[in-house]
Order: sequence, then C-alpha cells, then structure tokens
Amino acid sequence: MFDVVAKGFRDVRNRFEGKREITEENIDGALKDIRMAMLEADVNFRIAKGFIERVKETALGEIVRVKAKAGEKVEVTPGDHFIRICHDELEKLLGPVDTSIMYSNPRLGPTKIMMVGLQGSGKTTTTGKLAKYLKEREGKKPLLVGADVYRPAAIEQLRVLAKRIDVPVHAREGGDPVEVCRESLKIAEEKGCDVILFDTAGRLAVDDVLMDELEMIVQQTKPENIFLVADAMIGQDAVNTAKEFNARLEVDGFIMTKLDGDARGGAALSIKEVTGKPIKFIGLGEDLDALEEFRPEGLANRILG
Ligand code: GDP
Repeated sequence: MFDVVAKGFRDVRNRFEGKREITEENIDGALKDIRMAMLEADVNFRIAKGFIERVKETALGEIVRVKAKAGEKVEVTPGDHFIRICHDELEKLLGPVDTSIMYSNPRLGPTKIMMVGLQGSGKTTTTGKLAKYLKEREGKKPLLVGADVYRPAAIEQLRVLAKRIDVPVHAREGGDPVEVCRESLKIAEEKGCDVILFDTAGRLAVDDVLMDELEMIVQQTKPENIFLVADAMIGQDAVNTAKEFNARLEVDGFIMTKLDGDARGGAALSIKEVTGKPIKFIGLGEDLDALEEFRPEGLANRILG
C-alpha cells in the first residue's frame, strides 16, 4: 500500500543522511524526489505542484529559523525536520478528519444513506461493510435496499451480505429503483430499522441516464448522506469520476476502497483537494470487517514511515 510515494519519501530521508543543516540545495534535491514520486504515484499534477510549493515555502522559512537559532542545541536532525514539514502538509492534503454521518431526527423517520459509484468500485460490498459498522459500532438497525434493479447478481450479492450481517433487505428485481427506495422508508419503519442504505446502480462510466436516476432518488427520498464509493486502484479516473458525481449530486464524502491493493496512492492523495469533499471511510480488503474510519494522520504516518 502506497509503496511508490513511501519510497519517494525514503529517498528524501536518505538525501538528508549525515547532513548537518537544511540548505536551499538539499531542499531542492528533496523536492525533486517528492515530485517524481508523486507523479509516479499518479497524484494529480496540480495537487503535486501545490504540495511541493507549500513544503518548499515552509522549509525555506525553517532555514532562517534554524540559522537564527545557531549555537543552540539541535534537537532533531535536518532530515527529521524536513520530513515533519512533509508530514504536516500531507495531513492537510488528506484531512481534516471527517467521519461524521448525518443522522435524521428519529421522530421524522429513519436516516438515509445513499451509496453511489461506478460498477465494480466495491459499492455493494461497502454497503454491507457500512451496515455492519453501523450495527456493531453505532448500535443502529440498518435496512439494506437493492436499488440496482438491473443486475440480479447485485441484488443476490446484497441478500447474501444482509444474511451474513443479519439485517433485513428490501429489493425487487426489475422494479423501478426510485419506487424501491421510496417504499423502503415505510418498510424500515415497519421493521423497526433506523438507518436505510441504498445500494444504487453503477455503470462502467458516468452517464446521463444513471445520473438522472440517481437525482430522482435524491429528490424523492432526500437522503441525509450521499457517499461515493471510489476504487483507489483506478487512480485519477476515480478522482475524475468523483468530480462528475459531485457536480450532479453534491456528495457528502467518499469511501475509498481497495486501498489494501493500491501501491500508488494517487487517488487517495488527490481526491479531497480536487473535490473539496472528505474521505470518510477506507476499504482495506474484501472482508466485511475491512472498513476503517479515515484518519489522515495515520495515512501520513504510513507513507512517511
Ligand atoms: P460494485 O459493482 O461496485 O457493487 O462492486 P462489488 O461490491 O461487487 O465489488 C467488486 C469487487 O471488489 C469484489 O470482488 C469485492 O470483493 C472487491 N472489493 C470491494 N472492496 C474492496 C476492498 O476494500 N479491498 C479489496 N481488495 N477488494 C474489495
């Protein structure tokens, strides 16, 4: 996971090995290593450029500070110092922490969470993972809704997941997805469920028919949360997809899947800065427990070693 960027920062650390101070020269070399690693990791070009500029500005400022303190005992090595600057900037790039889920006033009915994303992004699996998380960690009673009415396999997959987590499911093959979602509001109340998760249809690419359908579901059910499930493995395609979805639906945040297999990390490092929306959760495997709240600091630590 994130091997490419992590290696870049290891090179940076090595570059400072044995150096006694931060100088403009070693900053320039280190920034070149970072630029290369970020581009190789498929980080959005503009984001990589902005990141490097910010690190440079802070690091050059630190030279002055370090010089001003000349003669004082140095607590950290120049390498540690520089990596700390990168760490802080990485955290800002990824953060802030926002794992919030907006809950409805229980008197007004159940909370609705709409899961959207491309086919194959891990939407159905993540719907199951999130339901399990809500049930076990938040004490909620979820209802899963199969709104991908076009693919019987998707509905079957949702049923299997629901059974494993032991939560009810509402689905109807070939039905009208908007109708299926609408009727689930009543079904949730009948079954005593307080959270509904809509597993909506995906496509291989964003298209107007899909977006019209999703917009209709939003209009008719007014979900408190719209989460886009994005596959980290597809790099900048995931970021572009996120931009398109966000432009039409105003998503509340992302669930980035398949980070366990993502050697590059470019999507995770770019998506918040490009869209202005946070990563809320991350998927780290196929298992139903492989969902974590997203902690920018943890990821920055992982990347910087
Ligand atoms: P959907 O078409 O978007 O509903 O995608 P699925 O939920 O069917 O997932 C597609 C594939 O990705 C399945 O094989 C899942 O097991 C797998 N998958 C989903 N999330 C993750 C994850 O976080 N890590 C890994 N390694 N695989 C995942």
